[in-house]
Amino acid sequence: MAESGKAPLLVVLSGPGGVGKGTLATALIAADPKLALSRSWTTRPRRKDDLADAYVFVSEQDFLAHRNQQGFLEWNKFLDHYYGTPVPDPETQQDLLLEIDVAGGRQVLDHQPDALMIFVEAPSEAEQRRRLLSRGDDPTRAEERIAEGKRETQEAKDLGYSFITNDNLAQTVTEIKELINEKRG
Ligand code: 5GP
Repeated sequence: MAESGKAPLLVVLSGPGGVGKGTLATALIAADPKLALSRSWTTRPRRKDDLADAYVFVSEQDFLAHRNQQGFLEWNKFLDHYYGTPVPDPETQQDLLLEIDVAGGRQVLDHQPDALMIFVEAPSEAEQRRRLLSRGDDPTRAEERIAEGKRETQEAKDLGYSFITNDNLAQTVTEIKELINEKRG
């Protein structure tokens, strides 16, 4: 429980690949000592732009064993690989930022309807494609991610996410900080 006695806030950051969620998450955590980043587990291979601590990289066998022990708050299979948020430490004092897909966001809302749901969009599809290719996705994977992003956008609308276009990093960080502060009250 947080100091106020309230359960920590869950802030869910979703959006298609290549919109800059990782950079946003890093900036938000750096600017807010009350916010901690949840470190997901994944079975996907490490990518060249992944920071060393971006994920806990595990085998499919280890992922499924952890899932079967109810070790995840939410999990999903996204484009052939598993991703999951470990159950947060119940003693945590900090609010938690989850950078997860919309299917995972839906599961979070089931547990905590009060979670703050934010969907980040790219300024344009061309810019999203450019970012995906420059970070090391092959062209087929990039197109799959763009198509999946369109499907996710619709699902996020249905779930009532707040939408933000990431045109400018500093401005987007400010907008998200405002949403978090409003929610903290
Ligand atoms: P990437 O392969 O680009 O790192 O991530 C692919 C997608 O999986 C992104 O939409 C990312 O937000 C999502 N993701 C990352 N970690 C998790 C997680 O723990 N749970 C869920 N449901 N999605 C995740």
